[in-house]
Amino acid sequence: MVMSALIGKTAIITGASRGIGRSIALRLAQDGAGVVLCARDAALLGDVVAEIRKTGGKAEMIPLDLRLPEAAEQLVDFAVAKFGRLDIVINNAGATKLGDFPELTDADWSDGFALKFFATVRITRAAWPHLKAVSGSVLNISGIGGRTPGAMFSIGGSVNAAMNCLTKSLADTGVRDGVRVNCVLPGYVRTDRLQKRLDAVVKESGVPMNQAEERFVADSKILQLGEPEDIAGLVAFIVGPEGRFFHGALIDMDGGATKAV
Ligand code: NAD
Repeated sequence: MVMSALIGKTAIITGASRGIGRSIALRLAQDGAGVVLCARDAALLGDVVAEIRKTGGKAEMIPLDLRLPEAAEQLVDFAVAKFGRLDIVINNAGATKLGDFPELTDADWSDGFALKFFATVRITRAAWPHLKAVSGSVLNISGIGGRTPGAMFSIGGSVNAAMNCLTKSLADTGVRDGVRVNCVLPGYVRTDRLQKRLDAVVKESGVPMNQAEERFVADSKILQLGEPEDIAGLVAFIVGPEGRFFHGALIDMDGGATKAV
């Protein structure tokens, strides 16, 4: 059922073919927004678009590799051409390589920053005049590794810390221009990426998947794993009318993973 909080609004969601981005796209469309989905895989994007349209939502898609500098303007131009305005940008696409620091190459570092950080910079810059015109909103998805990085997560942690810093900086510009900018920091959320880590626990320990998950949760000292829908619900609240006072906020949603104040 389409609800009303975002009726008449247009939202771009990057990395919307699966995982957290897919759930955000479904949720914002359910709340009434026209959504523009971007990722590389046209077939997967098409499935999400069909799912949204089946329930009466409005969705368009554009397959792009967001590491390419020209992709940002293509995405924003496409969204404005399709819906005539742009109110919300969700910078979610991200994939950074896990690995022991001495083994990570310049190419691994460049790739991590190219997709998540520089795509966010470029898309937000291209979108800014449109967002300014309608008092719109930017929502970045970083990750708790930006606050509490670990040895195997040097690229992801650094990229997410940069996303957090960028959020604060853009929020300052947003005070002047009337554009809200916020950031959600997910903890362990059940997506393909996390499934690979659970598969590794099964392989290493020989226990079945349900026990591997219990072990992962206990080892991570968290209450439970998150679902993509948990993050999508929070995002919908922040970018919706009830989130109007959120600005420059970095919000952990992590089942208690982040122990620091
Ligand atoms: P995922 O791997 O399931 O999905 C990533 C999305 O990004 C996909 O749609 C993929 O197609 C897209 N993408 C990848 N490379 C791209 C490229 N070059 N151009 C365009 N699109 C590209 O990831 P997820 O687990 O849903 O994570 C989404 C975001 O949340 C990421 O930024 C990730 O860092 C962050 N995050 C996730 C978790 C978690 O536990 N899942 C935890 C912390 C932070």
